[in-house]
Order: sequence, then structure tokens, then C-alpha cells
Amino acid sequence: MVTLKASALEEFVRDIFVKAGCSAAEGTRVGKYLVQANLTGHDSHGVVRVPRYVQMKNDGQIVADQKVEIAVETPVLAVVDARYGFGQTAAPQAVQIGIDKCKAMGLSAVALRNSGHIGRVGDWAEMAAAAGLVSVHFVNAAGSILVAPYNATERRFSTAPYCVGVPRPGQSPLILDFATSVVAEGKVLVASKGGKKIPDHALIGPDGRMSGDPHLLYGDYDPNGGRDYKSGPGAIRAFGDHKGSGLAFMCEVLGGALTGTGAATPGRRFANGMLSFYVDPKIVDPANFLTPDLTRFVDWVKTAKPVPGEEVLVPGEPEARMRAERLAKGIPLPDEIWQSLVTTARELGLDERRIQQAGI
Ligand code: NAD
Repeated sequence: MVTLKASALEEFVRDIFVKAGCSAAEGTRVGKYLVQANLTGHDSHGVVRVPRYVQMKNDGQIVADQKVEIAVETPVLAVVDARYGFGQTAAPQAVQIGIDKCKAMGLSAVALRNSGHIGRVGDWAEMAAAAGLVSVHFVNAAGSILVAPYNATERRFSTAPYCVGVPRPGQSPLILDFATSVVAEGKVLVASKGGKKIPDHALIGPDGRMSGDPHLLYGDYDPNGGRDYKSGPGAIRAFGDHKGSGLAFMCEVLGGALTGTGAATPGRRFANGMLSFYVDPKIVDPANFLTPDLTRFVDWVKTAKPVPGEEVLVPGEPEARMRAERLAKGIPLPDEIWQSLVTTARELGLDERRIQQAGI
């Protein structure tokens, strides 16, 4: 295990992406958001993604420094085509459009289509919350077919995340942000590389048996080599029985079909689609009922008697705690993940002294 300061890791990731052909501004954004995922404890969406992003850039699946295109625009909505640019470049632009329209109109909707991987969706709800706005996001990952619907053993959905953010002035926002599968694919990836194990009901085999073995998703793999989620015979299970599976279905419909990205389609080029709604509490709630009521409600929820050995938390609380801890103590990375970054940096020809300096 190596432990790195967040700022040092951000800079190393930036340098890797600049060497891969991104501008310094784009490299900085990719570094910032991948490290944010590690800081909040979502290592599955953190720097473990670096080799895969570089590969996608080299294969032409993601385009560096792409300009987004506004395909449709009214005073309250926009359809933003990312044209396969990096999600860390396209998503903040789409969110900013939603924020600007919402501030003007009280409510807005933005459909982001054909984006490179947008990472941790909570980043985009946090961006809206920092501007004082409530937001709701339905996301799909077209082409990334990983999840078996309720009562199925075959894949039909992406891990299609859902996210809601609510600002709390003077406190960290409430952020509900999860994949609609038992685990996000990145968590299977981390487990396959020696990181935290996944639950033994997370995956399902062709015989209908549940398991936590990453081989069901990736097939046979070399511990130090790449992982291809298309190679395994099994699937990740949709969470929450018929209800979670239904939410996943609607994330495909709203984040995929309605944005023009397309609901899950085998063989399609990878793209995230995201349908986001923004509400300005200042306009909906001029009497400022929301903030004190949130304080009352959160306090009341947290005083519910916990089951033995547990604690009652509200959405976003585990991430806020982890961020404080990792900012203070550094981000721990399993050796295998750190080595995959170093290998990627070397393959791109990053200066060896720079690489050595990053690991200190
Ligand atoms: P998860 O299972 O860790 O759930 C996270 C959510 O549950 C958060 O809102 C968190 O605050 C809340 N939570 C966690 N523990 C809690 C507790 N004890 N009490 C109360 N609330 C608690 O998340 P996940 O499904 O593994 O998703 C991880 C990340 O993957 C998310 O950020 C998601 O956006 C991202 N993702 C992205 C894509 C993509 O295509 N871009 C696809 C899938 C997932």
C-alpha cells in the first residue's frame, strides 16, 4: 500500500494526461475529479481509472479537449452534446449551463449526451449544491452492458447511477449518489486488483447462482494485466429487487434514450448520458422553510436507535467524513493500482524523475 497526498496525486494524474495529449487545463480537471472520487472513498471511480482512460483516449473512444455542442436550447433547458469528449470536461460545462438557467428561471433541465466517463456523479450534484441548487440526475452508460435486471441472469443495463443533491448553507450538502446495481463496476475492478472485496450477492452466474468472485465479470485475467468486463460469463445484479431494477430501467430511459445517447445498446461506443434537473430553493421557498426543516429532520433521523454496533448516517455523510480523513492523512492506494499508474506514465514516456518524485 502507498499513501499519497491528494494534491500530489492530482498533479501526477494531470501530468499523465498532458503526456497523453490533453491540454494542461483538461489534465488538471481529470486529476481533480478522479482524486475527488478517492477522497470521498469511491476508489472505484478514482485514479484506478487512469490506465483505462488513457487506453480510451489512445483508441479514439474519448477525444481530448473536445468542445461541447448545444443541440437544443430554450430558456429552461439545454441538450448538450459532449461529442465523446472527456466527461471531466463536458459534465462541468453541462452543469454550469443548468446552474445558469436555473438561477434565471428557478428550474432547469439539461440533457448531456455522448459524454466520456463522467466519473462520480456526486461531483456534479456537489457543484450544483455549491451554487445553492437542488439537483436530480439520471445517468446511463450506453455500451457498457453489465447488469442483469430483476429475475434475469443476462445483462441488459449499465450500472446506471442515480443522484440527488440538496444544499445546506454552512454545512456539507446532502448527496445521495449510487449505481443502481448492487455494486458499481469499478468496485468489482478494485476487488479484482486486490482491493476491498465485494459482497457475495453482488454478481450472478449463468446458472443463477450469486457470487462475489470478479472472474464472473472479467473471465480469466492476469493479475497485472487489463480487465475486460465483456469477457466474463456473469453479470452484476440490479440492487433492490424489482424496485431497484425499475429505477435502473428508468435511468436507461431518461439518462440514455431521452438524452439521445441511447439506452443500453450492445456493441455501442462507450458514452455516459445524464438528464439533470435543477431547482433553486431561493425561488421555490422565499420564506426559507427548507434549511431549518432540513436541520430538524436530519437531527431526528440521526437520533433513531441504531442496530448494535452501527450508526445512523444521512446521504453524503460517509463521503464528507472520508474526505476530511483522507485530506488529513493522505489517500491509500493498493500497490497494484499505484503500479498501474506508474506503468501507464512510463509507457507514455513521462520523465522517470517525475515518476519517482510522485511516489514519495
Ligand atoms: P455506494 O453503494 O457506496 O452508495 C453511496 C451512497 O450511499 C451515497 O449517497 C452515500 O452517502 C450513501 N451511504 C453509504 N453508506 C451509508 C450509510 N451507512 N448510511 C447512509 N447512507 C450511506 O455507491 P456505489 O453504488 O458504489 O456508487 C459509487 C459511485 O459510482 C457513485 O459516485 C456513482 O455516481 C458512480 N458511478 C458512476 C457511473 C458512471 O457511468 N459514471 C456508473 C455507476 C456508478
